[in-house]
Amino acid sequence: MIVAERKPLDQIDAMIQGFDKILVVGCGTCVAVCMAGGEKEVELLAAGLRMKGKLENKQRTIDEITVTRQCDKEYLDPLAKYVDDYDAIISMACGAGVQFLAERYDEKIVLPALNTLFIGVAEGTGIWSQRCTACSDCILDQTGGICPMTICAKNLLNGPCGGTDHGKCEVDGEKDCAWTLIYNKLKKIGRLDYLAKIQPPKDYSLMTKPGKYTHEAFKEAKQQEE
Ligand code: SF4
Ligand code: SF4
Repeated sequence: MIVAERKPLDQIDAMIQGFDKILVVGCGTCVAVCMAGGEKEVELLAAGLRMKGKLENKQRTIDEITVTRQCDKEYLDPLAKYVDDYDAIISMACGAGVQFLAERYDEKIVLPALNTLFIGVAEGTGIWSQRCTACSDCILDQTGGICPMTICAKNLLNGPCGGTDHGKCEVDGEKDCAWTLIYNKLKKIGRLDYLAKIQPPKDYSLMTKPGKYTHEAFKEAKQQEE
């Protein structure tokens, strides 16, 4: 899932200076799970902005709505009947959702309420950690399911580096050394032989941005369209 956190209220408030009617749009998927931009967070942000407006004697209307996903056109289309009534839209989605909303309603000002952090997992209540950097060529089969591109501070595909210290990373002593984790996991599953294989350099051209992907099943239809 995409993990994000909300920007400070003052920063969001500064973005809406000069606008009288604002629609706060939440996203009910990843950012709802990480408690940054779902229905509840939309409610809290809208209430905070209303309160701030009142304290500063500002006449402004803050309305709220949450869609299932802002990164999916079908969920953005139903907003068409609302957006015209507003001077600006605050999106509480990840960066992809904000951009897709801004693209769909390109005559509107769409403002980001979140900082998008990473692709990660829920480790426990209220704690998420990064697990994938979207390198487009997954090698987890060789590394015991632990991603050196993400967990190793130096993105080493062949490790560990000389700085590993009693299982901790030299870049940040609070963090586990990814390659110690990989070693321990491969040992556990009886595949230490994987460590003898030198991983070739990463093909960074696969990570050239912006990425685009068409599912195999839709390629032919797409080509016919073109
Ligand atoms: S190797 Fe790591 S960064 Fe690449 S796809 Fe797999 S998990 Fe993601
Ligand atoms: S100590 Fe381990 S995690 Fe840190 S940079 Fe070196 S190999 Fe990577």
